[in-house]
Amino acid sequence: MPALTLCDLEKTYPGRVRAVSGLNLEVDPGELMVVVGPSGCGKTTMLRMIAGLEQPDSGTITLGGRVVNGTPARDRDVAMVFQSGALYPHLSVYENIAFALRLRRTPQREIDVRVREAAEMLGLGDVLARRPAELSGGQRQRVALGRAIVRRPALFLLDEPLSQLDARLKADLRAEIKALQQRLGATMLYVTHDQAEAMMLGRRVAVMNKGRLHQVAEPATVYERPADRFVAGFLGTPAMNFFNGRIDSSAGGIALRLRSGVEIRVPSNSHVALTPYCGREVIVGIRPEDMSLGADRNGSLVTLAAQVELVEPLGGESFVHLRSGDDRFVVRSAGPASLAPGDTAEPAVRTGRMVYFDIETGQRIV
Ligand code: ATP
Repeated sequence: MPALTLCDLEKTYPGRVRAVSGLNLEVDPGELMVVVGPSGCGKTTMLRMIAGLEQPDSGTITLGGRVVNGTPARDRDVAMVFQSGALYPHLSVYENIAFALRLRRTPQREIDVRVREAAEMLGLGDVLARRPAELSGGQRQRVALGRAIVRRPALFLLDEPLSQLDARLKADLRAEIKALQQRLGATMLYVTHDQAEAMMLGRRVAVMNKGRLHQVAEPATVYERPADRFVAGFLGTPAMNFFNGRIDSSAGGIALRLRSGVEIRVPSNSHVALTPYCGREVIVGIRPEDMSLGADRNGSLVTLAAQVELVEPLGGESFVHLRSGDDRFVVRSAGPASLAPGDTAEPAVRTGRMVYFDIETGQRIV
């Protein structure tokens, strides 16, 4: 039985803001599910409905087999960790962590065991007597996590808990949350707008936009086999390159003709899916790492004629921004690039890695 099931959830705010629309999602017991999407796509609204802080207009929320739509927040057995931590400034770290247990009149001995256990897991053992103002940002977020952990809830809801931390702390705490989740066997629903964070943390990733879920799958699947153009473009840095092209039947196969006139023979394993598109325009997606400027041009390749517009050196690799006719795209190149703006280049495309999208629906064809 899933730990959490959302069925046809809808929420429209006054002023006709449709925050969540036709949302269906299942989270398995012990799973870390990450919902990722751009700012304003409805992530917080979804969490607040699960927590009982907001009522859906329609649809059901089922926790551990029980429909909880009418259940008050305090009886839902979920703990929410917010972006800002929201700690009580006048209470010590110990009392902040103990707060929910005190409300429930948990015996002091039990409170002490749970608070010290959580503090130990989170590396807060030495700062239990301090007030939140005397902590670093990372420590404050750990206290916020501690407050949730001591409650031993059936479900953790985490709303962008790392978004206010610097990059280094973010990376550290991200790894800690993942380890903690595994150690506790906790069921977590974690929302973020950071696609890299989602890919690194989630056992599965749910990609959301404009109140709707576009795809729910393991990180490798959403990356390699995106359901549609939105998912394809949202995941990956630099983003996937998109080209318009026309599918034509050619001698012994199918070809894709780009706007620049370059013709690419479509690999045979895509023929069946693309045959109905012969004579029509499609969008083709190519990831920056599936194009190359180097000498390692093995595999099924086609070269394009392009000009370099910008080079972003990252040390171990470079992002080379190119233009071919009206098409602009980025190639991820190993090592420092020897190219400079204005140079001509012949990037090679690994054609077996191309994905095709229906130009009208945006759905992936193959
Ligand atoms: P962010 O990542 O920026 O926090 P989000 O994905 O969590 O965004 P929500 O906060 O759920 O998105 O908001 C979804 C939509 O609903 C947005 O258009 C937002 O402006 C709107 N919205 C949120 N809360 C309310 C409210 N109380 N009243 C009216 N509109 C709201």
